[in-house]
Amino acid sequence: MAGDGISRLPSAVYGMQMHSLSLGWPRSIATRLNCIVAIALMAVTILTVASLHFSRTAVEAAAALKEAGVVGLVNVLEFDTLLERHQRLVETAVRDATADQPLGLRQQLDRLQRRMSVNLTQRVTHGRDEILAALPDLDAAARAVLESARTGSNETTALLAAYRKVSLALHALIGTERRDTVARMSERVERLSSTALRLADWVGVSAIVALVLIGPVSLLLLRRVTHRLQIITRSMLHLSHNDLDAPTAARQLAKADGPDEIGDMARALAVFRSNALALRDHRGRLEQVNLWLDVALNNMQRGLAMFDTEERLVISNANYQRMYDLRPDLTMYGTPLADILAHGAGSSVADPTAVIADYRAAVAANRTASYVRSLTDGRSFCVVLTPLVAGGWVTTHEDVTQKQQTEARMQLLARQDALTELQNRRGFGECLEALVTAIPIGGDLARSHSEFAVIAIDLDHFKEINDTHGHPVGDALLVAVSERLRGATRKNDIVARMGGDEFAILQRDIRDVSDVEGFAQRLLPLLAEPYEVRGHTLVIGASLGVAMAPAHGRTPELLMQRADVALYRAKAAGRNTAVTFEEILEAPIRARREMERDLRAAIAAGDLALHFQPILDLRARAVVSCEALLRWQRADGGFVPPIEFVKLAEETGLIEPLGVWALREACRVAASWPQTIKVAVNLSPLQFIGGRLLSQVQEALALANLSAHQLELEITESTLLTDNATTLATLHELRALGVAIALDDFGTGYSSLSYLRAFPFDKLKIDRSFVRDLSDREDCLAIVKAVATLAESLNMTTVAEGVETHDHLMRVHLAGCTAVQGYLFSRPVPAHELSQVFDVCTRQLAA
Ligand code: C2E
Ligand code: CA
Ligand code: CA
Repeated sequence: MAGDGISRLPSAVYGMQMHSLSLGWPRSIATRLNCIVAIALMAVTILTVASLHFSRTAVEAAAALKEAGVVGLVNVLEFDTLLERHQRLVETAVRDATADQPLGLRQQLDRLQRRMSVNLTQRVTHGRDEILAALPDLDAAARAVLESARTGSNETTALLAAYRKVSLALHALIGTERRDTVARMSERVERLSSTALRLADWVGVSAIVALVLIGPVSLLLLRRVTHRLQIITRSMLHLSHNDLDAPTAARQLAKADGPDEIGDMARALAVFRSNALALRDHRGRLEQVNLWLDVALNNMQRGLAMFDTEERLVISNANYQRMYDLRPDLTMYGTPLADILAHGAGSSVADPTAVIADYRAAVAANRTASYVRSLTDGRSFCVVLTPLVAGGWVTTHEDVTQKQQTEARMQLLARQDALTELQNRRGFGECLEALVTAIPIGGDLARSHSEFAVIAIDLDHFKEINDTHGHPVGDALLVAVSERLRGATRKNDIVARMGGDEFAILQRDIRDVSDVEGFAQRLLPLLAEPYEVRGHTLVIGASLGVAMAPAHGRTPELLMQRADVALYRAKAAGRNTAVTFEEILEAPIRARREMERDLRAAIAAGDLALHFQPILDLRARAVVSCEALLRWQRADGGFVPPIEFVKLAEETGLIEPLGVWALREACRVAASWPQTIKVAVNLSPLQFIGGRLLSQVQEALALANLSAHQLELEITESTLLTDNATTLATLHELRALGVAIALDDFGTGYSSLSYLRAFPFDKLKIDRSFVRDLSDREDCLAIVKAVATLAESLNMTTVAEGVETHDHLMRVHLAGCTAVQGYLFSRPVPAHELSQVFDVCTRQLAA
């Protein structure tokens, strides 16, 4: 079946119902029609056969009737008539008995006898033999009667009677024969009529079948077929007119569905229709996309152009055309790239051949490439080329003229100091880097002009001017300084502001160190000249540090560092000085670095120790506390003064582990002392930063199992300078624990009496310098007296530090100090010597 391929497709595809196969009734119209025709033919054949059969039966029946019926009956009747005439002749002969019977009578009888026998033999069929057998008897009886009558014998009557008897028997036989024939005839007729009836039945049925099949069924089938064909035709017409929106089209087409050829057509059409719909949708979308693409292309900031494998233009947007100022004929599909590039207007690329070569290389390598192209009119375009999978490429074009200018400006700004418009640290670093890179590894430096100087400049006392006159004046001064620096340097020297009041100069093309030193010496008075700034006359100096390249270094870092070392020395030398770097200047720095390394190792190895110095109460005449003082003996055996290494620890961040260790060690040692003796531990201001001090103290106490009341912490005024609120809070928390707080070195720092109000110290430690000068200076005594009185009124004890002599002791006692500490009683000693020291002290106090 032609439509099998389609009908096998799932009908859901067409949105139609698949007809289930009905058993017996074929699906194909052709088969159905063939069936109908076959059945009709069969009916007609049956009709014909039946008719033929009937006519033959009828003919046969007629012949049989004629032969056995009508003819037989006639013969029988004829025989009967002959027999009757025979009988009449015989009786007539008896009645007219004469001696001479006419010859005729005998002849008539013979003739009759012959005719009867002929009749019998020829025409009577059934009872013939019996009748034939009786004929001779009749003849004999008749002859006997005739003979008797001729002779006039009296036996004639008897003979006549005998004759009559034979004749009667014959009559009876004939009668039977006649009845038989009639019966046979009626039987035949009956058979004929029944055959006719059967035939009528067959003909009727065949006719009905033929009529029904040829009539209603074919009509119905035809009607259904034509109806569905009409639907399909209509649908096809709609389709051919591209009218896919006929509202009932799909439903109509579903009506034409079926399991036959038309169903196949309907489904095929449905598929076609849905394909057409999909195609239309697709086309619609494509059109929309095209529209969008057009809008997108022509609204994009960049120019866009697509080229095919033959380097001919496929598509370009309005911006591309505008950017390159292309004539309309150059924007047509198929325009060669070479023509576009070489169009000759003001805005064409500088080197078309190079452009084509670049494009070809990128396409051949199948990689995205970007170029910045200079145009003949001075603009710059950034072109990004992307090869296309199908061959050819697409380029986007962006005018980066502005961007490049901005970038250049940004580059400049990133390297420029906003205030002075000198180079900034970064710009200076890059210049230095460039110069360093140019230094040859060996060879004649002088001839290669690669010798240069780095001059680090720091303004002296600038901070004070800033503080006194405010930042605007400070800034204006910096600008004025920068102008003087610029004025003093040559064109290819680089002047930079490194930040704050630090400047630097890169001096190139120098012949000798003396050149630079001479320049530095000229610069110092120039910078020291008074400045007229915003109505102020300001005087500042500067310190200069000089490092020479490559003599003092071949890396920017080393050169900067060495210029700084020289500058540091210049400052230390009393300012307004210029110092050129020398190896020897680095000795203290190196020493410091080594010390830091050793201290780190010592802390880690636990090589530090605590010594203890007793503090004696003058009224109680007893040791009331011991101050813990750090001791560090280096590997070479020398002791490093704590002032030095504590400062170093503060600068390097080592103070925290150091401080924690001192706290824990002091507490551990003090735990074995009498409870009346406290341990005093010094705290660096930096230990208050980070908020861990309280817990560190608690931990130290807990670890040593020492009462907080046996711990005293000594802080200096500088502690109260930094982050006052947090520090005070920590101090209060410590005091709340029961720890005593002492103000150390009182009188040396800012000596602001307000500190005394800021926190309720338990103890004031008057600095050693006051005690030392007590003997010579009256004012010292007055101060110590005043402080002691003040402290007393504030409920604080006063400790005089550095009591070395009895004179000192007498004077501090007179001044009102309540406690003393000093070499007079004991130097700081290791923990194990303390008990001995306690005894000595007590004895001394008693004396
Ligand atoms: P400081 O807190 O003022 O300590 C007292 C200093 O005076 C000690 O010096 C002590 O040996 C010295 N001294 C005591 N009596 C006399 C005397 O009669 N005459 C003289 N000339 N000096 C006397 P030292 O041990 O050299 O400590 C110096 C400084 O180091 C201390 O001054 C303190 O500021 C600091 N320091 C010591 N140990 C530590 C510590 O564990 N932590 C912190 N942060 N600083 C500490
Ligand atoms: Ca102290
Ligand atoms: Ca002190």
